[in-house]
Amino acid sequence: MGLVKLYNGPKPTVCKCGNWRMHFNNNSTQWIIWCAEVSCNRIAVNGSLVQLHEKGNAEIFVVPLCSFHEQETNVLDIGDAIPINTIILDCAKCKTH
Ligand SMILES: [Zn+2]
Ligand SMILES: [Zn+2]
Repeated sequence: MGLVKLYNGPKPTVCKCGNWRMHFNNNSTQWIIWCAEVSCNRIAVNGSLVQLHEKGNAEIFVVPLCSFHEQETNVLDIGDAIPINTIILDCAKCKTH
């Protein structure tokens, strides 16, 4: 299980992917359609910015969540979903430009 907390600090600049959902899709080996929260069966709307519980505030990650869970203020269990770092120097999309 992976524990994350929604990030609500200043928004980092999006890379050439254009939005965080695309950045996740372009770099993840997982194809996530449903909200990453383990017990949720709603469709994932956005790539939400999160921080890993175990890493504290060091880095910002992206994970697809539904519109309900992207408002969550408590820690979320995202199970086997692997969050993608917002900062990927060789982001799959950026490399093609
Ligand atoms: Zn990207
Ligand atoms: Zn959800």
